[in-house]
Amino acid sequence: MTIQVETTVRSPEAYTLAHRAVDAMQAASVWPTPLNFELWLHYLGDPEGNLGQEISRLLASGAPFTDSTAEMLAAEFLPRGRLSEEIRDAGAVLNRELAAVAGAIDKARESQVTYGNTLAEAADRMANPGEAGNLGDLVASLAHATRRIRRHTAALERRLESSNREVTKLRDHMEQVRRDAMTDALTNLANRKAFDEHLLRLCDESENAGGSLGLAIIDIDHFKRFNDTWGHQTGDQVLRYVGSVLGRVARAPRIAARYGGEEFAVIFPGETAGAIEAALNSVRVEIGSRALRRRSTNDDLGAVTISVGFGVRRAGESAGQLLARADEALYASKRSGRNKVTAAAEAVSNAA
Ligand code: C2E
Repeated sequence: MTIQVETTVRSPEAYTLAHRAVDAMQAASVWPTPLNFELWLHYLGDPEGNLGQEISRLLASGAPFTDSTAEMLAAEFLPRGRLSEEIRDAGAVLNRELAAVAGAIDKARESQVTYGNTLAEAADRMANPGEAGNLGDLVASLAHATRRIRRHTAALERRLESSNREVTKLRDHMEQVRRDAMTDALTNLANRKAFDEHLLRLCDESENAGGSLGLAIIDIDHFKRFNDTWGHQTGDQVLRYVGSVLGRVARAPRIAARYGGEEFAVIFPGETAGAIEAALNSVRVEIGSRALRRRSTNDDLGAVTISVGFGVRRAGESAGQLLARADEALYASKRSGRNKVTAAAEAVSNAA
């Protein structure tokens, strides 16, 4: 997808595509920020690609397209500009350190060879009293060679210590970059990419080892209406609020993630359907019990509620099938009045 779109962006049709992107953003009431523009270029360049489909889905759902939605889409679907830059920079630091260490090793090796030669010469001269010459000169040249090798060995040690510090710093930094790439910046929960990876891995484990695996999808009720009334900034705070309650409840081994705009997901490894339902109901009650205030004006925002669908993986079921069942249960919660937790049916219904 990326290659095709990038080629288009450098072709004569690029201006047409750019105009269309701006028009399409305006039609969807999306601000023409640089990131949104980049997303729309990719979207229009490849509407059937993963990013294109996700944007179409978001627009069709009527969910507001906020900065955090854009960041989440970029983190998941755009070429990893920042990550590849970081990797390139890390490579440059490593090369510099390796070159410096190699230089110091060369110097130390050179002075070791010289030292060896000096010792051999001195031994020859001492073995042959006729050639020994002035003993004082001999001792002075040995002392000089010894000082030189000690200097180079000390320089090598210093160089290795400093490289060790640099490489440790680099490793910590890369670990942070890796964590950032798997985290939703707004809520600090796992992002969808990280979540999908966990879900696939845990599905495999559950299939092979036979442990139970629950999955819940959580959607904030009437979020679009909330955003339209109070604005995106307050909407983002509601997302953070729901995220913070979920994060507290979904401690390891549970995994909570922001799954889409106002959609969250939680994995429950090794728990019964009853325990999962009870945990989700306590989250639902906790979220709905708080009267939120608009921070800028202190307006009463009322409470937000969530609708939830969950399922426990059946033997042989794939991650996609489990997601589909949980999703269908979520819509059953929505259809039957919202602010509910619904357990998934045994199989996805044909009506879905
Ligand atoms: P935040 O604004 O960064 O607040 C982080 C945490 O600081 C909150 O976690 C809470 O423990 C504490 N805190 C901040 N402001 C207040 C306050 O006025 N009173 C009290 N008692 N504690 C406060 P918490 O509760 O889990 O909320 C997480 C995030 O959810 C908040 O991040 C904010 O973005 C959003 N949020 C929660 N409640 C409200 C609310 O009433 N109105 C708005 N606009 N956002 C809220």
